[in-house]
Amino acid sequence: MRIENDIKLDYKDVIIRPKRSEAPSRKNVVVEKTYRYLNSKSTWTGIPVIAANMDTTGTMAMAKALAKCGMMTCLHKHYSVSDLVNFFDKNQNPVSDSAFYTLGIKDEDLEKLITVANTVGTIRNICIDVANGYTMYFVDRVKRIRERFPNAVIMAGNVCTPEMVQELVLSGSADIVKIGIGPGSVCTTRVVAGVGYPQLSAVIECADAAHGLRGHVCADGGCTVPGDIAKAFGAGADFVMLGGMFAGHDECEGDWEYRVSKDGTLWEKAPLFKTPTELKADGWQHVEKEALAFYGMSSKAAIDKYSGGLKSYRAAEGKQVAVPYKGSVYDEEGVVQKIVGGLTSACAYVGAESLKDLPKCTTFVRCYRTHNDHFGA
Ligand code: 5GP
Repeated sequence: MRIENDIKLDYKDVIIRPKRSEAPSRKNVVVEKTYRYLNSKSTWTGIPVIAANMDTTGTMAMAKALAKCGMMTCLHKHYSVSDLVNFFDKNQNPVSDSAFYTLGIKDEDLEKLITVANTVGTIRNICIDVANGYTMYFVDRVKRIRERFPNAVIMAGNVCTPEMVQELVLSGSADIVKIGIGPGSVCTTRVVAGVGYPQLSAVIECADAAHGLRGHVCADGGCTVPGDIAKAFGAGADFVMLGGMFAGHDECEGDWEYRVSKDGTLWEKAPLFKTPTELKADGWQHVEKEALAFYGMSSKAAIDKYSGGLKSYRAAEGKQVAVPYKGSVYDEEGVVQKIVGGLTSACAYVGAESLKDLPKCTTFVRCYRTHNDHFGA
């Protein structure tokens, strides 16, 4: 047994220090970034924020909405071949360039990817996603997928330490390594297994390792407010992936709770498992979304739904919550505007003309209290 005594930090442990500068006004700050990927040799330009490949947030509707805002989406693994073929068919859907096809490491996952890719011609972005990216089997699988798709942008994870980032970039030929073990809003790995790494330090250390090789990292999980996203970019993340912050929007899929009213003034909770059409047929004139069931992809809810229940040797490592309805992602003052506004403001405060310059302009101050939560966050 060994103890590392260096202090490791989370987003909540730091704040970004403002700096005197000839800072441009917020409206001139450039939040788009351009990347050239190490292994696929391709380039991408956009706002490097990605919706997580959870079955509620990694949806085709989310991909269409976020593509319009210059952001990306990792589609979840549970779409059918025909849905995926329709989606990735370039002639019909230009949005597909800003979406990742996600798969796990089973043979059948690879066979499904090959079927879809053969039908549509090619898949531009591939995300190989496992809870524990620390096995050689995983590295070999990433390498195999790279051999089969030499020109695809490959994102692989999750890991949270530099040596495994280097392994995935060098041996696996990944372009982007996804960073985060246990920080997620509906993740319970740290409670169940006692395993993880404070996310801000993981991002700082892994970004340093990846950038030394000209690889890229995606900070995955743990952002609860737009300021956390600014901290992740300040720490060196090339991309930031969000689950909980995108949950509860119109673009999500899953089980909604509704509220109903006959006259539009007196509202009550609708019975569960009824669709809006059924509720209207029951005489409710007004039916509105109230909350979305949002659960971890290793939660009992997800395992029951997709894997036929928990095996005896395995514990769930995710939980389920009800996320209040938040409207559309691109509503005025909606999540996209808040994220972009937060990033431009962070850049302006530290004198960065663009998101690209944010890490070199960032000084983090360690603190015990980042904000006043007297009236909530
Ligand atoms: P959030 O943005 O909600 O804080 O984190 C989203 C991330 O949590 C996902 O991209 C994924 O990496 C992680 N995640 C999703 N479901 C689970 C789960 O059931 N268990 C664990 N350990 N992590 C999860």
